[in-house]
Amino acid sequence: MRNLQGRLDLCSINTATLGHREPISLTIERIARAGFGGIAPWRREIESADIAQVARQIKTSGLAVTGYCRSTALPAATPAEFNANVDANRAALRDAATLNAQCFVMVTGGLAAQSRDLPGARSQVTEGIAMLLETARDCGVPLAIEPLHPMYAADRAVVNTLEQALAICRAVDAANTGYVGVAIDAYHCWWDPALAHAIGTAGREKRILAYHTCDWLRDTRDMLLDRGMMGDGVIDLPALRQSVETAGYDGLIEVEIFSAQNWWQRDPDHVLATCAERLQTLC
Ligand code: ZN
Repeated sequence: MRNLQGRLDLCSINTATLGHREPISLTIERIARAGFGGIAPWRREIESADIAQVARQIKTSGLAVTGYCRSTALPAATPAEFNANVDANRAALRDAATLNAQCFVMVTGGLAAQSRDLPGARSQVTEGIAMLLETARDCGVPLAIEPLHPMYAADRAVVNTLEQALAICRAVDAANTGYVGVAIDAYHCWWDPALAHAIGTAGREKRILAYHTCDWLRDTRDMLLDRGMMGDGVIDLPALRQSVETAGYDGLIEVEIFSAQNWWQRDPDHVLATCAERLQTLC
């Protein structure tokens, strides 16, 4: 496993970690100044800004874009809505290309409104990703399917384990073109008894496109916005990174913390300094 001491260039900050409280230009500046090697911005920050200028600023700051967050939900109640969702993702993929993003993060979507059809939603996800693959190739930006913890199956993602995400990769891209893979997020995957096996498989299939880190707080108070800083929770983060890197992943380690009541209340530079320290000592 790589030693992260003095290697913040191997670490990236997902902008959600700072709570989206400031304009993206300032966020880029802070992350670069703190010494990180990468950034993962969100569409809400980019689509409301001058994307070419943002791309230039990121490039001149020397930051890699470890991912562009994130897809429009795919499952839909009608074919028209489904096609609109796919098109929205095509547009975002073009922006991901402008940003020179290493991948487009696919949070696939939960059940459509009023729906109880979980298998149907999962089929729509596979179909939608298959439809996006060509755009991904044209744009030169791979799709990174991010399985989410099963507590989000209703409202955010019907893809809930790494093995399930890999099965979709194989279904839509049997030839393994390199344009669809997985984003492994410690928060979503740590509980899975089949995780180590799935990470090994993902590595052999060369499908690991991103690795996201944070921690799971034992007394989680909010399903969405109470992620922990690395070291404050129960995940064996060094063991997890070791298994991801042993599987062949050599990309950046991306910190992604949603924390409305804690970290989003703190000074952004303090948050970044804490991430830096924890990454180098506890991850
Ligand atoms: Zn993530």
